[in-house]
Formats: sequence, structure tokens, C-alpha cells
Amino acid sequence: MRPPGIEPGSHFQYNLNMKIAVAKGDGIGPEIMEAVLNIFKAGKVPLQYEMVEMGKWVFDKGFSNGMTPEAKATIERLGILFKGPMETPKGKGVKSVNVTARKTWNTYANNREFQTLHGVDTVFSKAGIPIDITVVRENIEDTYGGIEHMLTHDVALSRRFITRPGSLQVIKYAFEMAKKKNARRITCGHKANIMKITDGLFLECFYEVAKDYPELKADDVIVDDLCMKLVTRPDLFDVVVLTNLQGDIVSDLCAGLVGGLGFAPSANIGDHICIFEAVHGTAPDIAGKNIANPTALLLSGLAMLRHVGLTENASVIENALLYTLEQGVHTGDFGDKSIPSVNTTQFADAIIGNFGKKPAVGAKEIIPNKPGTPEPLKLELNPMMVSVETGDETIVGVDLFIESDEQPVAIAEKCKRHAGVKFNLTNISNRGTQVWPTGSIYTNLVNQYNVRFESINDEPLNQQDVIGLYVSMSGNFKICSFELLNAWGDKKAYSMAQGQ
Ligand code: NAD
Repeated sequence: MRPPGIEPGSHFQYNLNMKIAVAKGDGIGPEIMEAVLNIFKAGKVPLQYEMVEMGKWVFDKGFSNGMTPEAKATIERLGILFKGPMETPKGKGVKSVNVTARKTWNTYANNREFQTLHGVDTVFSKAGIPIDITVVRENIEDTYGGIEHMLTHDVALSRRFITRPGSLQVIKYAFEMAKKKNARRITCGHKANIMKITDGLFLECFYEVAKDYPELKADDVIVDDLCMKLVTRPDLFDVVVLTNLQGDIVSDLCAGLVGGLGFAPSANIGDHICIFEAVHGTAPDIAGKNIANPTALLLSGLAMLRHVGLTENASVIENALLYTLEQGVHTGDFGDKSIPSVNTTQFADAIIGNFGKKPAVGAKEIIPNKPGTPEPLKLELNPMMVSVETGDETIVGVDLFIESDEQPVAIAEKCKRHAGVKFNLTNISNRGTQVWPTGSIYTNLVNQYNVRFESINDEPLNQQDVIGLYVSMSGNFKICSFELLNAWGDKKAYSMAQGQ
């Protein structure tokens, strides 16, 4: 868990002239980063930049995680990374540097703000429906562990991790942020009706944390229904918190509501390190042409300025940006086509030329900068996140995932011979659907079954019992993987098959 006394982002109160790490990125990255840093320079933002080497060309130099050791050390020393989009080389078996960075430094909350921008026409702005939604996406867990295996030639498995401490971390951040934002409502998006254990745990954590924030209206919506509601009545939503993959999809949906990826900023918040970047990628189709829209990266940079206490600089620049958009100045990807578009440099120059001006709609209050004392965190050991264990855990069975192209009845007959005196064969399922002892001839089968053995009379088992069964079964079947069936007291810590 978080070290005692450390709240999310609490050490990000820095002295004037603090240093941050900057990675320009690939594709349009260098162009839009240059535009944003020029705006910061003209806005007298009191930051110094230490450039770090990350991205495709670093992969190409042979660094398999997409960053040099010096870059890693610099980011860990400075605590803030402002980055352009980065490309992951295809087909080389390397993992995305963007995901690696978020996961390595435990930037557990991905915060994305989507607001109607006056001058950026969308169906909602034309209909007079205002949007101000913040999506908080869990950033570390879920299928993004990328732990995948082929169990047979036909069957692929992805492991989806949802943890209690990981969920609490991001949900607490979301509630704190909602409180600071004076939000009316905080909504948990989930699929706990289907993924009862994983999304069920996330939802349980959400309502556990909600108890500490009685002033906030907390509710939950199933994610498919949430998507429908977001595109019909986005004005009803305020802060939405989701697990990683669902959050990824919902946040891009929200980007579409406010004008597309060119207007979607993102902050990856951790206790020690934060990463600020645009949601969009490297846009290889327009790279090198100086025509990309730098707004999303600029908005990400403004979130970074506010995060480190540079609230006045952020508001001055944001007002100039909003004024510029209101004037109809636009890059080629948005805006009124009857007004000629400008290029990236000209767009940045227009913003610089509008410093001191206020937009007619949505002007930001100028709040004096609040720089504080830097407290760089030096960790000796990896922080361990564990919840209190109840102590009444027992093993009550095992699921063995076997490869077979036989019919369920034939498999059951063989399995029963291995059950011995401690186990009962209770269920065989195929792709999660029960095919033995009941089932339908119309259920299609693949060559991988889940065979469930449970203890006789609920007698507690030990790991040796399970290994004995595994060894015995391996005489008949190729076992692809197995999972223990745990119970905490009366509570079963595993799912039932469809139809069981
Ligand atoms: P993309 O976001 O790069 O581009 C999608 C479309 O949006 C393209 O037509 C592009 O021209 C346009 N677009 C994106 N940003 C724009 C901007 N600022 N101004 C104007 N138009 C813009 O998505 P993609 O094509 O799927 O991905 C390209 C590469 O980016 C891939 O290698 C991908 O892995 C990487 N990527 C990186 C990040 C990141 O660094 N965080 C995020 C997403 C994708």
C-alpha cells in the first residue's frame, strides 16, 4: 500500500525552476512537443527540462524496453515525465514502452478530462449539451498484464488480474479527485454481472470507498449500458471510474464526444512518478508535415502544470488556447472548413499571441502559483500491497484445464478413475459452459476442457492432495494449467460454469 502519510501526488509540490523529464516521442511527437514547449517558454513557465531517450529509435538501438538506463534513472530522480506519443515496433516481440512506463512506475490512475471546447464543433456543442466528464481508468492491472498463453493449438488464454489493493488505490484517487472537482456524481463502470469475481471485487471496493465520501453521489452502471448512456446523455455524467480495458475503450468514446483525439489529454498518476501525455498516438500518416494538432498534448501539459502547483501559468495559457479556438483558428483535423487551417507552428504562435486574452466561454480563474518544497521519494524496497487476510482459507478442490478432443462422457469416465478417496468429479466445462454431468448436444466444443474436482464432504485439502491428483491425471491427459479452488469460510472464491 501507499507509504503512511503519502496521499496521491502529495509530493508534487515543487520549487520554482523545478526540473522535469521530457521525451519527445515518435511520429508527430517531436513537432507537437516543440510547439507546446514554445508555448510554455513564451508563457514564462518556470520549469527546466531534461530530455530523455525513449521510443521507437531506442528500441531500434537495442534497448528492449524502449528506454535507455539513463532515461529510467532521470525519470525516477525527477518524478515527472512529459512525453510525446511513442511507437512500439511491430512483430519484434517487444512490449509497448507506454504501457511499460505506466506499469513500471505504478502510475495506477489514468485521468482523462473531456470538456466541451467552445470553437470545437461537435453534435453535442451544436445541440447546446455541455460535456465535462473525467474518466479515471485503472492503469496497471486487468488484461494489460499481457500474461497470455496458448493452452492448445486452438485455445488462447489471457489472465485478467484485478486486485483489492490495486482497485482501492485507483478508486480512492478517483473519489479524492471528484471531491476536489466539486463533482455531482461518481459512477463505477463495470461488467460485474458477468465477471462476478473480478469486476465484482472492483465494484465492492468502489462502494467500500464511497462510504468515506457521503457528500458524493456514488452509483454504478454496467459498461455497455454506460456507453449507450454516454452517447445519448453525456451531460448526466461527471466522474467515471473503470478497470483498465473498459476504461481504455470508454475514454476513447468520450474523446469522440468532445471532438476527437486531438482534444484528449491524459495524466498517469502515481504516488512517486506521474506521466503526462496525449491520448493519441504517433499519427504516422501526418508525421513530419508540421500539420498535427498540438492541443491534446498542450492540455496534458496544463494538467501537469496544475499538478505541480503552477496554476497561474496553466490558466493564462489555457485562456489563450480557448480564445484561439473561439476565434476559429484550427489545424486541419477540426474546425470550420470554410476558414483555412493553420499548421502546428502557426497554431502555437496564435496561442502565444493571445496571452492575456479571455475566452467568452469557460474562462479559467487565475489562481496564483503554489510551488512548495520538493520531497523526492527514495524507496529502499518495492512497496508491498497486501490486505488483511481472514485466516479461514481452505482448499476445497481444483480445476484442471486439460487438452482433449474426446466427448465429455468419455472424459468423465476417465477422470473418475483418478478421483481417489479425496475428490469427487463434479463438473466438466468447455469454454465456461457445463458439458457434464448435464449439457446440450448443441454446445460446440473446442479441444480444451476444464475438469473440476471437489473434496468429498467439503473436507479441507492440501497442496499435496492436489499434486497427487495432477500426477495421476497426467497419465491420461495433457494438463495445460490448473487453479486451486479456495474458500474463505463459507464464501467460494471461484466461479461456477454456465449452467452449473
Ligand atoms: P493515432 O492516434 O496515432 O492516429 C489515429 C488517427 O488520428 C490518424 O488518422 C492520425 O492522423 C489522427 N491523429 C492523431 N493525433 C492527431 C493529432 N494530434 N493531430 C491531428 N491528427 C491526429 O493512432 P494509431 O494510428 O492507431 O497509432 C499509431 C502509433 O501510435 C502506433 O504505433 C501506436 O502503438 C502508437 N500509440 C502510442 C500511444 C502513446 O504513446 N501513448 C497511444 C496510442 C497509439
